[in-house]
This record gives sequence, C-alpha cells and structure tokens, in this order.
Amino acid sequence: MKYVVTGGAGFIGSHFVRYVLQTHADAQVLNYDLLTYAGNLANLKDVENNERYTFVKGDIGDIAGLKKLFTEFKPDVVVNFAAESHNDRGEDNPLKFFETNVLGTARLMQACREAEVPRVHHISTCEVFGDLELDALEAFSETSRYAPKTPYNASKAGSDHAVMAYYHTFKVPVTISNCANNYGPYQYPEKLIPLFVTNALEGKKMPLFKSSKNKREWTHVVDHCAAVDLIVRKGRVGESYNIGSGVEKTVEEITDIILAELGLGQEYKEYVPDRLQHDKRYLLDSSKVRAELGWTPTYDFAVGMAETVQWYKENEWWWKPIKSGELYRKYYEGKYKRV
Ligand code: NAD
Repeated sequence: MKYVVTGGAGFIGSHFVRYVLQTHADAQVLNYDLLTYAGNLANLKDVENNERYTFVKGDIGDIAGLKKLFTEFKPDVVVNFAAESHNDRGEDNPLKFFETNVLGTARLMQACREAEVPRVHHISTCEVFGDLELDALEAFSETSRYAPKTPYNASKAGSDHAVMAYYHTFKVPVTISNCANNYGPYQYPEKLIPLFVTNALEGKKMPLFKSSKNKREWTHVVDHCAAVDLIVRKGRVGESYNIGSGVEKTVEEITDIILAELGLGQEYKEYVPDRLQHDKRYLLDSSKVRAELGWTPTYDFAVGMAETVQWYKENEWWWKPIKSGELYRKYYEGKYKRV
C-alpha cells in the first residue's frame, strides 16, 4: 500500500510514518512536508535510509505540485497531518492558522479530487467541539455540535468542513478522525509535556497557566497512529471517528507526574496568565472506533508518561538544538510572565 503522509515531519505525522513502515512490510511512504518551524527531519532519522521511505518538501496549498506528485507516485491513500497546531501561536497570528488549516486543506482536497486519489484521511482534533465544563457528565461524540472558540480549533473545524464538502459535493472518498491531547517522544518543546520536562532538565521553571485545574484527555501518540491506520484500512468512507484513551489529567497533575519522575520539587512550578481563550476540558467518547474497528489503546498512562519523560532525558541531541535556536528563543523571550 502506498501512503502520502502530509505533515509527516511533525510530531504525530513522523510517528505515523514510522508506525506504517514498521507495521506493514509492503508499505511505501512518501512524506510531504513544508518544514515550517515545527517540521523536523531529525524526527525520522531512524528511517531516513529505509528504501520504502521518501521525503519531498512542499506545501499542502500547492495544487499543481501535489497533482504532479500524485500522478507520479500513485498513492492508495493521502493522510493529512499538516497544520498549524499550537493554540498559543494561533492567538499571535490567527490568519496563518486559517490560511494553512482551512485554505491549505481545501487546496489539498482539490488536488486529491483532480488527481482522483482513491482515499483521503484527514487528522482533526477534539477541539472542534469546543470545551466541556470541568464537572460535565458527557463526552464529545462524533455527532456533537461543532463549537470552536480559538483560531486553532476554529481553523481545524473549517478544515473538517472543507473535507466533508469535497466528499458530499465531489465524491472524494474521505474519512476524518478527531483526537485529544497526544504525548510521546519527538513533540515540539512548546507543548506542555516536552516544554515542562526540558525546562526542568535545564533548571528552568515550568510555566503553568493559572487555570491549571483544566483537564485534558491524554492519548499516547503510537495508539493514535494505530487508530488512524485502522481507519485508513477499514473505516467507512464519509465517516468521522473519535480517538481517545479515556485517561483525563489536569495540567497540575501532569506537572506533578513530571516532577516526581525527575525527582524535583514544587519550586519548579511558576503560574502564568491564561491564554486569551482557555478551553476548560476535552473528553471524547471513542466507542465508535472501538466497537466498529476493534481499536483499543495499548499504553498504560503511567508507563507511557515515565517512558516519555525518560526519552526527553536521554535525547538532548533532539531538543537542545531546537531550544537553543534563534527562532525558538525569539518566540519565547518574555512570552511567559508570572501572574
Ligand atoms: P506539528 O506542529 O508537530 O506538525 C505539523 C507539521 O505540519 C509540521 O511538520 C509542519 O512542517 C507541517 N506543515 C505545516 N504547514 C504545512 C503546509 N502548508 N504544507 C505542508 N506541511 C505543513 O503538529 P502535530 O502535533 O504533529 O499535529 C498533527 C496533526 O494532528 C494536526 O493536524 C493537529 O491539528 C492534529 N492533532 C494534534 C494533537 C496533539 O496533541 N498534538 C491532538 C489532536 C489532533
């Protein structure tokens, strides 16, 4: 089976590339990524010499380039991970999010339509449904109302609508999956877990947003990739599937787990002002993907977190160059100020 993976040099996309190459001996993977600040070929250092793997640098908004690539490579499926993915940055530059996530995805769909790609899978997020109250009894299902509140989650909602428009109007065969927070190795150190672990390893504070009681559902990135691959191979065209472990933790709890793993004290915590819009809680009802496709998460959360913290501890070669780079420092200088 031939996969084109867009955004395959990012956190989840690179795990998906590795997962597919390891799981299917006949899989060929073409990774198509623009290499924005978040794209990093070091994420795939271990597979770069695999003869079933190719990398092409490009933009999901380049319809002509994509059409040529699809015509030559003849993928069985295109899996779209490419996006602007960080809520904080969406507040700084919202239009970039709408350009990449809405227009970029629509252009990718147009290229898939024109090249008659036999199958497209789009990666989305639980955040398209907005947020839940901390004490809510329900979880988001596939039929929950879209109610995004930030530029990131509104632009992801827009991307889902573009994908479904190409399905209903032009009969492009699509599926969508919506997942909550992922964790694991190779996550860009602006996101909660890698930021806090690497800050602590550098002797710096962990900047907790004031609303540190806010909860997230945490899914190991490899479990997410396994679910996506199942949907690609066995999911029903035109359907969307929620993917979630069911494990909920507050930001405060995650911080305490990291501190315990590193043998450090509470003095590493520093409370900083919330984002302009700070969603309270995300939780997905993932019974559909479990019942219909037999997916189940395999990672125990405590083990997965311990392994993840250990990975950042042992792989400074990966995160040190990112954090010491000019672009990273420029963005974070003065970003987090104490409450
Ligand atoms: P990431 O920021 O680590 O990676 C995004 C990748 O997309 C980068 O490699 C970047 O270079 C590439 N990219 C950006 N714009 C592009 C363009 N115009 N053309 C081609 N490539 C481009 O993101 P991630 O955390 O790996 O997330 C991947 C996908 O999963 C996103 O769609 C995100 O919305 C979704 N998602 C992420 C999470 C999470 O916890 N990280 C949870 C649910 C859903």
